[in-house]
Amino acid sequence: MDIMNRRLKEVAATLGKGVKLIAVSKTKPVSDIEVVYNAGQRIFGENKAIEMRDKHQILPKDIQWHFIGHLQSNKVKYIAGYVSLIHSVDSVKLLSEINRQAEKCQRVIDCLLQFHVADEESKFGLSYEEAALLLSSSDYLQMKNIRIVGVMGMATHTGNELQIRDEFKKIKEIFNQLKSAYFGQDDNFKEISMGMSNDYRLAMEEGSTLVRVGSAIFGERNYAIS
Ligand SMILES: *Cc1c(COP(=O)(O)O)cnc(C)c1O
Repeated sequence: MDIMNRRLKEVAATLGKGVKLIAVSKTKPVSDIEVVYNAGQRIFGENKAIEMRDKHQILPKDIQWHFIGHLQSNKVKYIAGYVSLIHSVDSVKLLSEINRQAEKCQRVIDCLLQFHVADEESKFGLSYEEAALLLSSSDYLQMKNIRIVGVMGMATHTGNELQIRDEFKKIKEIFNQLKSAYFGQDDNFKEISMGMSNDYRLAMEEGSTLVRVGSAIFGERNYAIS
């Protein structure tokens, strides 16, 4: 499908320096991922553990799989062996299960802390205070098989560009605060995952290092038939 190829190239051409593109392939068939893979894309994002596992089993092994959705602790086992970044850590409980499963696989799994900055109640994520508690808990300090490399957040689904920009600024500010309070010596803490098809350009202007783009590459998702 030439159209996905063309869209990928268009998105890739607008990426800022040092910004990585995560092609969000959730609900899309393996054949679509193969098209985008053959065009050179290697990082793909999924938001369901079983769907990610099934796609990982079939597709080339040099794909880096990013988990971007709400992750239930009991599903971590389906992705722990190969996932390259989990964007959506929002509790100590989840983090300790990721640590436990990573240890079983003799891996260290990179994670981002997800923050809630949007207006919508439905969006998952921590507040700064909750993250501060997590990062100073003895549970966290004992975990050897996870590494927190940054933060993630989603803006409100709105046409109000000022509001979106404001929410991205908030995420960047949280990143800066955490960096100076908890990760001062840690060069690995450097990622800011924000921006989707409709707002990734704004997100890059506000400091995003990882953009998660689905429909602008793969086309609209049809949840009814998937
Ligand atoms: C689906 C999804 C995306 C991609 O959304 P598009 O609007 O299709 O680009 C990005 N991030 C998360 C967390 C998602 O669930």
